[in-house]
Amino acid sequence: MKTCANCGERSYRVESRFCLKCGSTLPDAEDVPDINICTNPDCDYHKTKFIYPDGARFCDICGSKTAHA
Ligand SMILES: [Zn+2]
Ligand SMILES: [Zn+2]
Repeated sequence: MKTCANCGERSYRVESRFCLKCGSTLPDAEDVPDINICTNPDCDYHKTKFIYPDGARFCDICGSKTAHA
């Protein structure tokens, strides 16, 4: 969810770029979406931020734990 710095509107989708109410530019990913990614910095899936389903607990490429980031 994003918050408009101008009017305080808070019900934005992650993809939103502009405020629905006042048209102000919204900040980039101020609230990072709750995504489940590989925690191994050397893993390609970490680098590309491949999103695992919520139930996944380990990366199926490198075996490291996944975490919500
Ligand atoms: Zn606004
Ligand atoms: Zn991995």
